[in-house]
Amino acid sequence: MNGDLAIDVRGLTKRYDGRAVVDDVALQLGTGRICGFLGPNGSGKTTTIRMLCGLLTPDAGEGRCLGLDLKRDALAIKRQVGYMTQRFGLYEDLSIRQNLDFVARLFELPERPRRVDEALQRLGLASRAQQLAGSLSGGWKQRLALAACLLHEPRLLLLDEPTAGVDPKARRDFWDEIHRLAAEGITVLVSTHYMDEAERCHELAYIAYGKLLARGTEREIIDQAGLAVWAVQAEGDPATLSALLEPLKAAPGVLSVAAFGSAVHVAGQDAALVEAAIGAFRDRPGLRWTRAEANLEDVFISLIGRAPDNFA
Ligand code: ADP
Repeated sequence: MNGDLAIDVRGLTKRYDGRAVVDDVALQLGTGRICGFLGPNGSGKTTTIRMLCGLLTPDAGEGRCLGLDLKRDALAIKRQVGYMTQRFGLYEDLSIRQNLDFVARLFELPERPRRVDEALQRLGLASRAQQLAGSLSGGWKQRLALAACLLHEPRLLLLDEPTAGVDPKARRDFWDEIHRLAAEGITVLVSTHYMDEAERCHELAYIAYGKLLARGTEREIIDQAGLAVWAVQAEGDPATLSALLEPLKAAPGVLSVAAFGSAVHVAGQDAALVEAAIGAFRDRPGLRWTRAEANLEDVFISLIGRAPDNFA
């Protein structure tokens, strides 16, 4: 057992009505690392996170969080993990300070005023301490929620879509704070749908239909996927591009067709099949074709295309 792993679980499985919504998931994450948790809606991210923080009992699987046994020590794990849910779970009719004080009481924390003051300072909330939580914008609510889940000084943060609906400036501030926390040795697992956020993580885990389909750094995940990618741009009317999308998606061997700015990426693992697919359009006037590097989104879309859909 590696003492440097904050998360070390295998075989994690959760079934609802006979259906495995999390299916044999293994995850290892070193202390102080930031792991982005990606995947389509309903793919099992929240369920996985809730099993990791001791809120949900797995139907199968084993392992440790912060060195504590997932099943036997669920209560102790809960006390050492900071969990931020998708929904704002604080009291709208209490002020920022009152909310933090309330959470500190729930955790029965010693030195409550000091901890609340520190949390207010750390997240830049001090000047708004008396403001009602309900009157805050999305970005400020998110800061308050993060402050609340840091109060008990957790060593592992499990953040479930913390930046959904938050503006770009607030998202950047949030990520700066996440990196500061990681530099202090706090481990972070954070689910997100944003590719720019995925790129800010040390490593990534991609889940679809309950199965972990990719794991590693951005570079490793792109390399493992082994995609051949062509990019096509319209020299004139952009409509010439949109007309390609459906026929290319249906072509054998094409795993992903996705627009990036003014270009469309066409990707697959078998370069010859992708070339055959684009062959029909290669000489069409007004289009410019080039080979391209695969990016994360190409990989994720192609992984979903290949995944066995156990929901069907
Ligand atoms: P994600 O966080 O990736 O969007 P979830 O973990 O929330 O995915 O959900 C995974 C799947 O499990 C979904 O199909 C969801 O409907 C189902 N699910 C989650 N919780 C329950 C529950 N308590 N009862 C039945 N089905 C559930």
